[in-house]
Amino acid sequence: MEAFYTLQGEGQHSGKAAYFIRLGGCEVGCHWCDVKESWDADAHPKLEINTIVEGALGYPGRLAVITGGEPLMYNLDALTDALQQAGFQTNIETSGVYPFTGHWDWVCFSPKKFKTPHSDIYINANELKSIIYNKSDFEFAEQHAALVNQECTLLLQPEWSKHEQMLPLIIDYIKDNPKWKMSLQTHKYMNIP
Ligand code: SF4
Repeated sequence: MEAFYTLQGEGQHSGKAAYFIRLGGCEVGCHWCDVKESWDADAHPKLEINTIVEGALGYPGRLAVITGGEPLMYNLDALTDALQQAGFQTNIETSGVYPFTGHWDWVCFSPKKFKTPHSDIYINANELKSIIYNKSDFEFAEQHAALVNQECTLLLQPEWSKHEQMLPLIIDYIKDNPKWKMSLQTHKYMNIP
């Protein structure tokens, strides 16, 4: 759908320069999705892997973040191999609803209530990023925290349109449940993509 060089705004790698590669196509259907234009894969051009990698090589950063849409709709072995051979760290942001493919340095798993994750994701997730849109999302976050591997970093992140209401609740929740850490969409505070 698009690719752009910016700072990773959220999650464990927040603050790092990163080349984002956003793949078109998503069937998860979050009502608060802020990239609904990504949902229709056919609305976006198909590019050769070499073209994507060349675009990434045009900037000094060597962190590539594959996002969507839902990137695991596609087998990502070839794209991640090519990026790693070109010297990139490969990170993914996924809802985990499809079988796991690709070779990754960091896997951000952000489960959504609207489509059940595939079982592959729980062993592969490096961070569980749970979006808090309303109070019931804390329980949903805990359900997934019980399923991920022991090394997985646990993050709670307010959904942007509700962040003023949810932020105080998340702060209190983390103080009471310190296995969790805060993740903020700092790119939105910085007004960058
Ligand atoms: S999984 Fe991501 S891209 Fe898909 S609808 Fe939800 S927020 Fe949007």
